[in-house]
Formats: sequence, C-alpha cells, structure tokens
Amino acid sequence: MSSRQVVTSRISLAIVGGGTRASALLRSLLEIDSVLVSGVCCTGDSTPAARLAQELGVPSAKELTEVFQIPGLDLIIDASDDPSVFSELELQRPAHISLIGGAGSDLVTDFLAAKHEAREQERLFVELQVAYEKIRNHERRLESSKDALEKANEELESRLAEIFFTHEFFKALTSFTSVDDVSSLIVDGCNGILGAEINCVYLFNRADWTLELRASQGRPHYEFRLLVPISETVLGHAFREGPVNQLDVSSDANSTAWALDSGSIASQAAVPLRAGDNVFGVMVMASSTPRELSVVEMERLEVLGSQASLALQNALLHEELERLSVTDRLTELYNHGYFKQRLDEEFQRSLRFGHSLSLIMLDIDDFKEFNDSFGHPCGDRVLKSVSEVIRKNLREMDIAARYGGEEFVVVLPETTCAGATMVAERIRVEVERVSHEIADAVCVSRTVSIGVATYPGSAENALALLEMADAAMYRGKRAGKNRVVAAGC
Ligand code: GH3
Ligand code: MG
Ligand code: MG
Repeated sequence: MSSRQVVTSRISLAIVGGGTRASALLRSLLEIDSVLVSGVCCTGDSTPAARLAQELGVPSAKELTEVFQIPGLDLIIDASDDPSVFSELELQRPAHISLIGGAGSDLVTDFLAAKHEAREQERLFVELQVAYEKIRNHERRLESSKDALEKANEELESRLAEIFFTHEFFKALTSFTSVDDVSSLIVDGCNGILGAEINCVYLFNRADWTLELRASQGRPHYEFRLLVPISETVLGHAFREGPVNQLDVSSDANSTAWALDSGSIASQAAVPLRAGDNVFGVMVMASSTPRELSVVEMERLEVLGSQASLALQNALLHEELERLSVTDRLTELYNHGYFKQRLDEEFQRSLRFGHSLSLIMLDIDDFKEFNDSFGHPCGDRVLKSVSEVIRKNLREMDIAARYGGEEFVVVLPETTCAGATMVAERIRVEVERVSHEIADAVCVSRTVSIGVATYPGSAENALALLEMADAAMYRGKRAGKNRVVAAGC
C-alpha cells in the first residue's frame, strides 16, 4: 500500500512585543501545529517574551527591519501595546506580510488563551478520570482485602479457641489419675478438638493379646467390641504398624469390625498409644459419612495421641502403684494392711445393713517341716498354689489376703456361717488334691486347717471376729489338722 505524504503549508509569523501578553501569545502559538513562529521582536533581552523565545529556541530580533527580512514571513502580530510601534509596522511592512495589532491582536490572544484553557481542562478531565479509576481500583482491592482480612480474623479466632480448648484439655489430662477418667477425657477431647463423630480408646491386654475398650464416644458403649485381638481391624493395624488414615472403608468390614455395626463406618483413622517403644493401646476415630482427614488434622490426631499416651501412662503407673501397695508380692493376694482396712469397712457395712459377714482363717499344716525337707523355694511354690486355690473358690466381692507367713484370711461379705464353711471345705479339699512337684517325679501335697467365724453369732466386732476365726483354726490344729472348724455358729 502506498502512502502519500500530505504537506500543508504552515503560516509563518512573528510576534512584536516583549511583555507578558507577547510571551503568553508565543506560548499559545507554539502549541498550534499549523503555525510556525519564525521570530520575536522586542527591545530588551530580559523581557518575558525575549527570555521565553531564548528558552524555546525561537529567533529574536531587536529591530523591526530584521523582522521584515525573515524569509517567507506571512504575518506579524503586534502585542506591544504601543500605538507608535503599530503605526511604524503599518508604514514599513512589505505588502505580502499581513499585520494584526490593536483589538485584533487582543482577540487572537484571548482566543488562544481560551483554547489553551480548554485543552488544559480536557487534560485535567482525563487526569481526573484516570485518578478516579485508580481510586476505584484501590477501593475494590481494599474491599477484597477487607473480606480476606475478615476471613483470616475468623480463622484466627477459631484457631485461638481451639488452642485454648487444647491447652485446657491437656491441663485436665494431667490432673486425672484414674485410667477410666483419663480415657473418657481423651474421647471427649478427640470430639472437641477434631470434631470426631465416633471415637474410642482401647488398651492392650497382655494376658490374651487383645485390645480392650476403655472409653467410647458417639455411640453407646455396647455398640463396640469390648475385646479386639491385636491381629484384627484398623486397631490391630495401628497397634502393630503405626498411624492409619482411611478415607473409604465402607466395604471393608475386616477393618471396621471394632464397631459392631461395622458397615456403618465410612472413614476411620487410628493412632497407637505408646510410651517410648512400648505400644500399650490405640485411639481410633471414625465417621459414618466419608471424611478425609487433612495432613494437619492427622498431625493433630497424632499430637493428641502422644499427649493421651503420657496421661494414660501416668494413670496406669498410678493404678499399678496403688495395686502394689495393697498386694502381697509372692501370692498376689491382698496384703495384711489392706485386709484390716477392708475387714473394718465390711464389718461396718454389715452392722448398718444387718447382713451377715464371715471370716475364714487358713494355715498350712506342718509347713516348717516342709520347708526344712524341700527348701524355701518349694515352700514358696506351695504358698502360690494355695493362694490360687483360694482365689478360684471365691466370688468377686470376697476379699482374700495373706495374713502373714503361711496364713491366709478371707472376708466373705453377706455370707452365713454355713455358706462360709462350705467355701472353706471346698478350699481344704482342693488344696489336699493338688500335688506339688518337688524334684523329678517326686510329688507331694499339703493340707490346711481352717477356722470360720461369722457375724452375727461368733463375734460382735471385727477384732473379735478375727480372734474367733483364729481360735477355731487352732482348734482344728489340735484336733489333728486338715479340717474346717466353725466358731460358735
Ligand atoms: P502348723 O501345722 O502347726 O501350722 O505347723 P507349721 O510348721 O506350719 O507352723 P510354724 O508356725 O511352726 O511354721 C511356719 C513356717 O512357715 C515357718 C516358715 O519357715 C514358713 N514360712 C513362713 N513364711 C514363708 C514364706 O514366705 N516362704 C516359705 N517358703 N516359707 C514360709
Ligand atoms: Mg502359722
Ligand atoms: Mg502352719
């Protein structure tokens, strides 16, 4: 495509005058493309028009004759405000040069000034529009950052509430000493901190390698399996391998069978409870609708698990210490001190409710001789097996203790003399039946003498009851041992 350059001729003009009107005219005319300001004529160098011409590179002259000689000059504008200059110009100008002066020059000046102002206003308007757009953009950005700020604020507040709850929860955990209380608190915390719909604490049972339910939340206790072998379900998995996070287990009944209605579990996560390398339980949380635990939530579950572990370990130790403080080391029956305390308590209860209460006193016959013949370690084995026979023949509510040496006592609440005598006789017969291997192929058995006393009937206070049972037992010894004697009932 060809292009044609359009050449438009520009009006070449000169300004006469040095004052502010001449300089304003110069500035306005320079903005007009169709005008070429070819010169400025003023008498002094320091007049406003002379200074501006110099600054803008417009030739300046001092004499009018110089102006007339500017080649191609079309027009002279007289802005001098001096009538004699205008007259001189009119007289001397060459005919081809037009002249505007007096009112005409004022008109041109005002016209150009108005045009300049209009352009200025237009420029200001555009600037204003740009500024307005910028402000709107700022406003919009502020609006969206306000929303983001409000959202961040809400998140911060909920995080603070969660931190506060967690802190209070951890504080509470350490103040509990019973395993059941700590376990209940843990399931509450799991619900409060992680919003768990269902969760349970299971503890390891060394005797049969199962996990035993200690606390639950979200469903009634009976809706969970009480004992879960450590080879089964997500509990066993977490127990053996570490934390598990499963999003969709709705068709994996093997994994969810810790809940009796295993099909109702959609998602589940479990973490082991551990003290160092020793895993002693599992904490499990689940929901009936699919729920994916985020990495952060899973981390929180693990933190919860380790805090729960500490608190549970404390409680377990506390309970173990309590158990040891009332237990006889060799026989694992209660010790003398605990027996005395429980005898007093049970006697008071019997007095209050009018129930009968029996006491059995049992002594191994000729035990010194046995020790002397077969040695103390063998004697210890006999003490243990007699204890086992006693334990096996009692109810949950009975209290069996090692009274001292080879003597044992049993408190039988709500038991008559006849009932206690029957129990005593069962124990006597069974002890006699059990044989103890002393050396290779050498087996011996032991016998026991038992005294029975009962309230009411034999005695009216705990100490007298004890003395009566002891006296009855000695009567049995004197009568030839291996027998049960009941005191006055
Ligand atoms: P009796 O038939 O009259 O009761 O005679 P006994 O020999 O059983 O009674 P004695 O009071 O003379 O002796 C009790 C023995 O019990 C003496 C002691 O060596 C033994 N003995 C006490 N405590 C223990 C123990 O912890 N382990 C063992 N192996 N023996 C014990
Ligand atoms: Mg004795
Ligand atoms: Mg004895």
